[in-house]
Amino acid sequence: MAEVLVLVDHAQGVVKKPAAEMLTIARRLGEPTAVFIGPGAETAKDLLARYGAEKIISVSDPAVGEYLVAPQAEVLAQIVEASSPVAVLIPSNAAGKEVAARLAVKTGSGLITDAVDVQAGESGPVTTQSVFAGSYSVKSRVTQGAAIITVKPNSATPEQAAGAGAFEELTPQISDAAKAAKITASEPKKASGRPELTEAAIVVSGGRGTGGDFAPVEAFADSLGAAVGASRAAVDAGWYPHTSQVGQTGKQVSPQLYVAAGISGAIQHRAGMQTSKTIVAVNKDEEAPIFELVDFGVVGDLFQVLPQATEAVKGK
Ligand code: FAD
Repeated sequence: MAEVLVLVDHAQGVVKKPAAEMLTIARRLGEPTAVFIGPGAETAKDLLARYGAEKIISVSDPAVGEYLVAPQAEVLAQIVEASSPVAVLIPSNAAGKEVAARLAVKTGSGLITDAVDVQAGESGPVTTQSVFAGSYSVKSRVTQGAAIITVKPNSATPEQAAGAGAFEELTPQISDAAKAAKITASEPKKASGRPELTEAAIVVSGGRGTGGDFAPVEAFADSLGAAVGASRAAVDAGWYPHTSQVGQTGKQVSPQLYVAAGISGAIQHRAGMQTSKTIVAVNKDEEAPIFELVDFGVVGDLFQVLPQATEAVKGK
């Protein structure tokens, strides 16, 4: 059976949810091999095997982590050359996309970014992308080399299926060119206690309709264990951090549930959330464009609706 490489997304050794999602996708395409770059693979190996990793390649050489993404691309290129996998699945975040692009050049392979779905096809993996602000869904496949695909978080529901989990340590060759950009300091973000916006299964976002008071948005988000997002209007007004902006010039999210409160639904906002599985809007204007794309819409004042919804969730 064809091998499928999965670059494991982790933070200081703690495996992130997209890794389990990508292993689930990899099982549709062949036999998953998890590539774990950085310290912590020993601890993570049981979890990776539980989601179907037949093999785990650990690259714990500290030299790899001392530099920006270039060494990761070299590590993956060495593995691709040795094993000729049918596909390489990489997390679709800023670093992942850079690794994927470098890997595609190094291996002469085709690259597809921001896949929201990947299925097995007769001539190789078939990916789905959502383009032009979510107006089109495009299916494509790589026609040369290993299919290098960056996969957006929440593109699959993680399903457990035991894999052999054979463990292998790899000591890679890293070129001087890959050592051109050295990391000089790395500080962990202050933890908010909420999930990461791009990975969260539920996102509750607030817009100009909040008038700058995000308390009901945050309270509702916390009752659901959700991440908090914001429209650009709210961010530009200085009401919420720029890192929380959802949309064309912000973050792209694709959660199971997206709640837009006091957000009109401009095309640039839709570009960042239209692929959410279920969309709910709370807006006091029944003509607001956001209602064109929702699964459930509440016409009402968010300062009344969200606290009631929060109480209802807490009462469950
Ligand atoms: P508004 O459009 O002002 O909507 C506020 C809504 O709140 C209204 O529908 C109103 O009825 C409702 N409301 C008011 N009070 C209440 C209340 N008490 N209860 C319930 N509802 C209430 N925008 C983004 O979001 N993300 C982007 O990445 C982004 N990128 C952009 C890039 C470019 C190049 C450009 C030109 C624009 C971009 N924008 C982006 C801006 C976008 O065009 C809109 O201006 C923005 O999304 C509007 O934000 P909003 O919906 O919060 O505000």
